[in-house]
Amino acid sequence: MVEGCSWFSMSILKHAFLLWMVLKNKLKTHDGLKPWDVGGATNLNLVCCSLCKTVQDSHAHIFFRCTYSTTVWSLVRDMAGLRHVPNIEDTTDYLIPISKGKSAKCVIGRLVLAAYVYFVWQERNNRTFTNNTRPPKRLKELIVNTVRMRLASIKFKASSKVLQLLENWKLPKSLLMDGDDPSFVR
Ligand SMILES: [Zn+2]
Repeated sequence: MVEGCSWFSMSILKHAFLLWMVLKNKLKTHDGLKPWDVGGATNLNLVCCSLCKTVQDSHAHIFFRCTYSTTVWSLVRDMAGLRHVPNIEDTTDYLIPISKGKSAKCVIGRLVLAAYVYFVWQERNNRTFTNNTRPPKRLKELIVNTVRMRLASIKFKASSKVLQLLENWKLPKSLLMDGDDPSFVR
């Protein structure tokens, strides 16, 4: 069993796997690269963040400190129900202890965080290997649309709290279920 697999509950698999890789510092960023990954002639000190082009590429920088990605996070934070968590580094600290939570709020928080990590990493790679660039607002749209599609396939236990969350996400009330089926998200 993969350690940290609680992140995978109700998740989009490829997003949750990437989030798990980030939390384990396993991506090939500057702090994860070894000389044999890039060839001896490459000076690893020159591997710069392709999102802001100002700081060395690293897990902590790309996902938690970069001006580009923190702008994206500021655009999706409210949709994740994490307005009270001031920055993305605090968000992971906040979410890890509740990563096993089955409440609608926990599920949505995990989905948004994982989608954020996925699309920021995709953007970082697009900019590293091609000339394609997208503004933070475009990433926000991709994150929100992807999470909304996933939420539309989940059954939620009817309550005023969940109804409010569905309204925030512009999702239909038909996702609300009556009864006590343990598979319902509440
Ligand atoms: Zn950067």
